[in-house]
Amino acid sequence: MGQKLRVLFVASEGVPFAKTGGLADVVGTLPHALEELGVEVKVLMPYYAMVKQGKTPTTLIAEDLEVNLGLIRHSFNLMAPTTPSPFYFVERDEFYERSQLYGTPRGDYFDNLERFAFFCGAVLPFCRALDFHPDLIHCHDWQSALAPVYLRQRWAGEDILAGAKTVFTIHNLAYQGLFPQDKYPLLGLDWSYYCIDGLEYYGQINLLKGGILCADAITTVSPRYSQEIQTPEFGYGLEGVLATRAEHLHGILNGVDYRDWSPETDGLIPAKFGREDLKGKAADKAALMEAFGLSKDLADAPILAIISRLADQKGFDLVEQVLPQLMKQKLMVVILGTGEEKYHRWLESVAPKYKGKLGVKIAFDNKLAHLMEAGADMFLMPSRYEPCGLNQIYSMKYGTIPVVRATGGLADTVTPVGHPSAPGTGFVFTDYTPEAFLKAIHTALDAYADKELWRRIMVHAMDEDFSWKVSAQAYLELYKSLVQ
Ligand code: ADP
Repeated sequence: MGQKLRVLFVASEGVPFAKTGGLADVVGTLPHALEELGVEVKVLMPYYAMVKQGKTPTTLIAEDLEVNLGLIRHSFNLMAPTTPSPFYFVERDEFYERSQLYGTPRGDYFDNLERFAFFCGAVLPFCRALDFHPDLIHCHDWQSALAPVYLRQRWAGEDILAGAKTVFTIHNLAYQGLFPQDKYPLLGLDWSYYCIDGLEYYGQINLLKGGILCADAITTVSPRYSQEIQTPEFGYGLEGVLATRAEHLHGILNGVDYRDWSPETDGLIPAKFGREDLKGKAADKAALMEAFGLSKDLADAPILAIISRLADQKGFDLVEQVLPQLMKQKLMVVILGTGEEKYHRWLESVAPKYKGKLGVKIAFDNKLAHLMEAGADMFLMPSRYEPCGLNQIYSMKYGTIPVVRATGGLADTVTPVGHPSAPGTGFVFTDYTPEAFLKAIHTALDAYADKELWRRIMVHAMDEDFSWKVSAQAYLELYKSLVQ
């Protein structure tokens, strides 16, 4: 065997250090799956307050490394966990020591361009400091989209990066990193690259577009989403740009780490259980009812759960419209989420109306998320669009049956009950309407009433395997095809 393939991940979040969504799960788990396939991986991430104050002790690796992008010219310290880990952190407190990663519910931080241009600019001094020659740099979403741009436009002559290829993964096309044109000089790029075939996008800077144009290959997190984003409905204005790169665009389904998300081993739930013995799930359901103050009279009724960023993407307008109908029925609904203020307000106003039937928690709470996966009976994901979606995958492993809209990764991972040739694992609807959503929930409730049928659906769902094995191999094949 030749030398190991060396891959540098550049990403703005990763578990267990910092997380706002599925990106963090991927960045925290895919490197380990790649290492098992013999790849050497390092991950570069900002040193946020939550990393600094987190459970993993860190130590200084290198001091005063300089990023020089012209107008942005500062140094940073390189930190890393004290125990062996692929992760490294860029410490520059004025940029990253804040309560959140990208902004508050009221809006994005005003200097996100500076923060993430600096972060991408740190790739070169990082590689130099560690004498790390990556064969490939794998970037994720707009926050790291400038790294492939810099590699082309600024770093072409740097020995340490000579021959390095780039992969750019789009976890969500709707978040593009748009900034006013007058900030362009901060990027340290020639104005000639502010053009229709470069970072310019309707009079603004579009960082995601830069990643799409400059990376050697582009991936999205499910095959269906890779097709959808090439259409005007899902392309968020970039369908044309993506079409120019269609032959380099691949859909690779996210895997999940069942060491964290499996009812047989989950250390965050009160009672473990498995497909052979589901007793523990009843204990988890009781704990979940307790946690949300749900009425004990409803113990026989199903719990419908939602764990989500509170964003339009996730179909909360549909949830809002079907909730009054649902609340007339013998069931319970539990919702955990944070996000847009309008949804905070709505949930805060509606929760007291349905006390005992509806439980709401506006927070980011990983432990509660595990309890909900374990204790609920159904999981609702009526997304308008969904690049991959992880919660429906976690839900299936816990026998918590997903009710989802047939879009993106939801369509790729949930097999509708009643499918002619495969065992059903969930309930699927197509039209983005409250009627279609309600109909799917009612079909699921009818199935729930038939205990034997429901048990069979649970077992099929729990048997599904979306571990990284297959997807990490697909990434490896892609890397190899680029690096040669
Ligand atoms: P997205 O990345 O679009 O937010 P995904 O389904 O891909 O959606 O991933 C969401 C991840 O974030 C899951 O691991 C989910 O459990 C977690 N998550 C989302 N909101 C919360 C919350 N309020 N509390 C705890 N975990 C959450």
